[in-house]
Amino acid sequence: MSGSQHAQVFAPAPDGGEEPRNLVGLSRAELAAEIAALGEPAFRAKQLWHWIYARGATDFAAMTSLGKAFRARLAQGYRVARPETAVAQESRDGTRKWLLRLDDGQEVECVHIPEAERGTLCVSSQVGCTLTCRFCHTGTQRLVRNLSAAEILGQVMLARDHFQEWPSPSEDRQLTNIVMMGMGEPLYNYDNIAKALKIVMDHEGLAISRRRITLSTAGVVPMMQRCGEELGVNLAVSLHAVSDEVRDRIVPLNRKYPLKELLAACRAYPGVHNARRITFEYVMLKGVNDSPAEAREMIRLLKDIPAKVNLIPFNPWPGAPFECSSPEAVEAFARILLAGGLAAPVRRPRGQDIMAACGQLKSASERLKKTEREAAKAAGCRSPA
Ligand code: SAH
Repeated sequence: MSGSQHAQVFAPAPDGGEEPRNLVGLSRAELAAEIAALGEPAFRAKQLWHWIYARGATDFAAMTSLGKAFRARLAQGYRVARPETAVAQESRDGTRKWLLRLDDGQEVECVHIPEAERGTLCVSSQVGCTLTCRFCHTGTQRLVRNLSAAEILGQVMLARDHFQEWPSPSEDRQLTNIVMMGMGEPLYNYDNIAKALKIVMDHEGLAISRRRITLSTAGVVPMMQRCGEELGVNLAVSLHAVSDEVRDRIVPLNRKYPLKELLAACRAYPGVHNARRITFEYVMLKGVNDSPAEAREMIRLLKDIPAKVNLIPFNPWPGAPFECSSPEAVEAFARILLAGGLAAPVRRPRGQDIMAACGQLKSASERLKKTEREAAKAAGCRSPA
């Protein structure tokens, strides 16, 4: 499979599509224009913004600071909608996964991971993914499209609904951090991600700081600079190999943007300094990328980049063509990195019992014919070209 095949452009997602129009996902300027077109003064748009993003209101009737007639008019032409929850699951370890059904019937997953000091929402950016990383279940899903800004935001708002964090409490919040690490490649859907994250970061709304948002990319080099400049979020890079030879095989995007270019883009990532390091994700695959020599090579490759490494034990899925490295190999790898000055925590798998761990997301009820399902599975198992 050639690298260029993965960069195809997809039809934009419907953003709520038919009437009534979903107000979620409109930028401040778009909302203002919409309200101005109704002949209402500009402060109404601000009030509406507050109801939608600070108070989480979905029913216009509850927006009591707006005049009755205006509320009725809004209710006729608009809605404030979330994606529908098809299935909600909770893991033994408290991790939650929501399977969301979108307006066109497509499905995506979103995961909440509670920890002692924070709660992280893992947000999807696409239905499926075009990257076909060999170890990732999402890459075996055939249907792919970009999520709209409303669908990306909807995941965050739905989690706030679930935890009843409207308005967001100042203490003991369940939703404090966001990682763009769910299904899909966020930098292949940059415009919608940027639009959604700007709304997420808006101080008069969801108000989640860019310091608490991390975007993970497999290395779409041409978009990295812009992401850093415009959004200023933390960057995570799915490294997974320290030679082009291995990376070409397990992360096919590497054939398009090889390691040298990727690492140059990391060095140039705006705002990178020691307090705000780039996270390099590294999935531990037995006999593929887990040797001590590879750990030493990683130290060399990353020596002039403010970096930390997340070692991720490979999470298996049905038919996966890899095994996880042994705990001893992971431990030895981490120790070498640490001795070389690289912080290398081993990420504990979360939510494995509900298939919510890294790389396991794939719409469980993906509606494909059996033959299609088998073909997709075969594609995932095929030995790398
Ligand atoms: N496309 C983006 C974000 C989605 S993947 C990216 O590639 O970064 C989120 C993280 O999970 C990535 O580091 C990905 O490589 C990792 N991952 C995928 N499959 C995995 C698996 N089976 N086990 C462990 N981690 C996996």
